[in-house]
Amino acid sequence: MAINKLLLTFAICRLIVTVGLTVDPAELLRLGVDGQLSVDPSDVEIASLDFGLLSRAEPMAVLRPASAEDIARLVRAAYNSAGGFTVSARGHGHSINGQAQTSSGVVIEMSRRSGGGQLGGLGNPNPPQVSVKEMHADVWGGELWIDVLRSTLEYGLAPKSWTDYLYLSVGGTLSNAGISGQAFNHGPQISNVHELDVVTGKGEILTCSEEENSKLFHAVLGGLGQFGIITRARISLEPAPHRVRWIRVLYSSFSSFTRDQEYLISLYGNPPSQKFDYVEGFVIVDEGLINNWRSSFFSPRNPVKISSIGSNGGVLYCLEITKNYYQSTVDTIDQEVEYLLKKLNYIPSSVFTTDLPYVDFLDRVHKAELKLRSKGLWDVPHPWLNLFVPKSRIADFDKGVFKGILGNKTSGPILIYPMNRNKWDQRSSVVTPDEDVFYLVALLRSALDNGEETQTLEYLSNQNRQILRFCDDAGIKVKQYLPHYTTQQEWMDHFGDKWSQFYQKKMEFDPQRILATGQRIFMPSFLASSSPSSSGSVAPW
Ligand code: FAD
Repeated sequence: MAINKLLLTFAICRLIVTVGLTVDPAELLRLGVDGQLSVDPSDVEIASLDFGLLSRAEPMAVLRPASAEDIARLVRAAYNSAGGFTVSARGHGHSINGQAQTSSGVVIEMSRRSGGGQLGGLGNPNPPQVSVKEMHADVWGGELWIDVLRSTLEYGLAPKSWTDYLYLSVGGTLSNAGISGQAFNHGPQISNVHELDVVTGKGEILTCSEEENSKLFHAVLGGLGQFGIITRARISLEPAPHRVRWIRVLYSSFSSFTRDQEYLISLYGNPPSQKFDYVEGFVIVDEGLINNWRSSFFSPRNPVKISSIGSNGGVLYCLEITKNYYQSTVDTIDQEVEYLLKKLNYIPSSVFTTDLPYVDFLDRVHKAELKLRSKGLWDVPHPWLNLFVPKSRIADFDKGVFKGILGNKTSGPILIYPMNRNKWDQRSSVVTPDEDVFYLVALLRSALDNGEETQTLEYLSNQNRQILRFCDDAGIKVKQYLPHYTTQQEWMDHFGDKWSQFYQKKMEFDPQRILATGQRIFMPSFLASSSPSSSGSVAPW
């Protein structure tokens, strides 16, 4: 313990010298947290990076909290600090652009699974508490969705709305939206939360919901970590399906593909037997592991050579749909699927079906992760671009991007699926296009150093910029999902009408602007007042 204190003092002194921080080391040492405050290089290293591997920021210390009160203590210390320092919650570090990083303060490792360093062994403060009667689970903000699923399954229950990948934290996805093929039906994850405990930027612990502290509740959902740190979320549950019929069908015509997708999501109000449970899709430009890592669907038992199907201009579109079922509905599943498929206009010979336990379907991307890891293809830079594209312009996007800018080379899966805006609560902080239906287009790219120019980080980053410029020039009003900007004007454009509210709430709940500074929306007040160019402004940095 004494050595840790010495190291902490040393690390803080180093920061004071290198980045001009004016934190009194005693401030952190006096905190007296029940968890662990670490300056061990292995912990700092983990918190310095994220999945994107595009940026690096070394925090002065890392906190593994033992409770919400530990987090509140740290935030209060930062809020009242004479010199000032920042506090960034890190879920599982799966951001792309350093959103959970900070160089001028402390990172809170919310998940026990963000491991490897000295902090690896500690458990999360509160295991999930499931209420069968109320059909909800109370979970720690740093809990990973895979662990939420495992806990609720013990009671035969499961959350309703998912992300494709489950090794993400509850607080991290709720700070964005949390989307997958169920969103058309249930809305994003932020639409399936009843209540939160939040540590605000002043260090208060507040419970919030529709009824209680509702302004904070809506601000935090999709709030990019700007208004508080989620320490508990009450997640809505449903009876967990037993199995999943998982189907893929192919299209060479983009208009048939999107017409069918839009038709399927328009069925959201139907009884469960008359709609699919999950609607996604992806663009197939090229086969190969790096392009199709998202799933191992085309298994040897179900072989398919995309090239054998033929397509115009080399681009095919794959609709991916599932139907959940229970032991009690096993007799009707074939009939229900057949009825729904009959209405679609895919290439007739291109139906690929598999059937698997519900958990295996939800956890499908993890299998692909293990495969990529074994080939050294997981820990590489990920210049991802995720966009919400309005339905009215998706065909223009197809022409300009899938059949234009991308050429016939991709470097990762390209997802495309529509969602119903009426399932998104407009009071949350998240912004979407202003149309009833909008698409997620996700370019999930991996940069490789294999001598191919089209796979390099520089090439792919340029292509991202080209895509954004194309949308701008063509007047396609896209919104970035998991947004990343570097100027305040860009953030203002991103939030549009919501900017002034977003700004006011920031001033109310995090007036010193010390939380989640890795988003680069607001400059912390202690840096703004010392920066000659900003003269106390809240501009990003
Ligand atoms: P982090 O990256 O650690 O944090 C993200 C932001 O939230 C940071 O600003 C951080 O400060 C803040 N934050 C973290 N925890 C809290 C908290 N408790 N309270 C307040 N703020 C907090 N997204 C989807 O919607 N759907 C998908 O299908 C999907 N699939 C993905 C697959 C992969 C392989 C990866 C890498 C990402 C995927 N994502 C998906 C994106 C994911 O939702 C984001 O990366 C998100 O940030 C969650 O990651 P995280 O929990 O690691 O959060």
